[in-house]
Amino acid sequence: MQPIQDSFGRHHNYLRISLTDACNFRCFYCMPNEDVSCTPNAQLMQPDEILMIAKQFVSMGVDKIRLTGGEPLVRKEAREIIDELSKLPVELCLTSNGALIHLFQDCLLQSSIRSINISLDTLEEDKFQVLTKRTHFKQVLDNIEWLLENDFSVKVNAVLIKGMNDNEINDFIELTRYKKLHIRFIEFMPFTDNSWQDDRLVSQQQILNTAQEKYDVIKLQDEQNATAKKYKAVGCEGTFAIISTMTNPFCDSCNRIRLTADGKIKNCLFSKTETDLLAALRGNLNIEPFIRASIKSKKEKLGGQLFDNFSTEDFEKLENRSMISIGG
Ligand code: SAM
Ligand code: SF4
Repeated sequence: MQPIQDSFGRHHNYLRISLTDACNFRCFYCMPNEDVSCTPNAQLMQPDEILMIAKQFVSMGVDKIRLTGGEPLVRKEAREIIDELSKLPVELCLTSNGALIHLFQDCLLQSSIRSINISLDTLEEDKFQVLTKRTHFKQVLDNIEWLLENDFSVKVNAVLIKGMNDNEINDFIELTRYKKLHIRFIEFMPFTDNSWQDDRLVSQQQILNTAQEKYDVIKLQDEQNATAKKYKAVGCEGTFAIISTMTNPFCDSCNRIRLTADGKIKNCLFSKTETDLLAALRGNLNIEPFIRASIKSKKEKLGGQLFDNFSTEDFEKLENRSMISIGG
C-alpha cells in the first residue's frame, strides 16, 4: 500500500494517539485557566475502535505509535489498550506525567513498550506543586527510578518557562551524570488560554548558553525525523536535548500524525482544521481516504498559523485546541 504522504513529499509513519483529554495534573501551560470539562467516555474512541484505526494506519506504513493524553494512564481502559496495541508490529511508546506508573508496572513489563517519556518540569518539590497543582513529586521521582531499574529508556520532558524553572537547566543536566536519563528541554508553546507570552519563552540558544557555562557540551547525531536536537555534557552518562518548536521549527522533516481522544486527525500540532475519523469509522465508511486527504492538506509549516518571526504574531487569534486535548 502507498505510504502516507503530504503534498510536500513528507512521509508520515508516526502516529500519536491521545487516549483521553482528562488529566490528574493541572499544568497551567497545558490547559485553559478556567475549569476544563473532559469529553464523555461515549464520545471517545473505544478500545476496539482504537485498535481498528491503529491497524489501518499500520497497513499504510505507520511503524511507530505513541500513547499520550491528557494523562493516558487515567483512561480506565488503558491496560486493555496497551495490551492490544502491543501486538501490532510497531515501536510502541508512552508519554506520561509519571504519577501512576507504579500502578501499571505489570502492564508495562508485559507490553511492547520500551521507551517512556515522563514530563517533569522541576526538581523542586514546592515548585512542582505550583506547576502541576498536585503533590505527586516524590512518586514521580520513584517511578522514574523504577523505570530505569527495569531497563526502560526514559526521557524526561521539561517545558522551560522564564522566571519559573529556567534556573534549573543545569540541575536537570546534572541528573544525567550518573543516570542513563535523557533530558529534553521543550520551548514553551502558545495554545488557547495557556498564559503564553514571548518573554516567557526560553529559547534553544539560551538553553545551550546556560549549559555551556557549566559543561563542555558536545553535539550528538540526531535520529531521523527527530524533533529534539541531542547533546551530551562531557563526563555524563545520559544526554540532553532541545525541542525548539518556536525558535527553530522542524517542519521540513515532520512525520507525525496526531489522533485526538475523540477520534479527530490533526495533521499538525498547530492545525486549525481536523478530520473526524471516528465519525467515519462509526458510519461504516472506509477510513483510508479520510487519512490520505487529511495528510494531503497539511500545511508546509506550523499549521499555516505561525511564522518564523513568532514574536510579531497575534497569538490571541490562534485557532487550536489546548495541548491537553491534543496530546503534545
Ligand atoms: N500527561 C502527559 C504528560 O504530561 O507527559 C501527556 C500529555 S502532555 C500534553 C504531552 C507533553 O506536552 C508534555 O511533555 C507536556 O510538557 C507538553 N506540553 C504541554 N503544554 C505545552 C506547552 N504549552 N508548550 C510546550 N509543551 C507543552
Ligand atoms: Fe496533564 Fe500532561 Fe497537560 Fe500536565 S502536561 S496537565 S500532566 S496532560
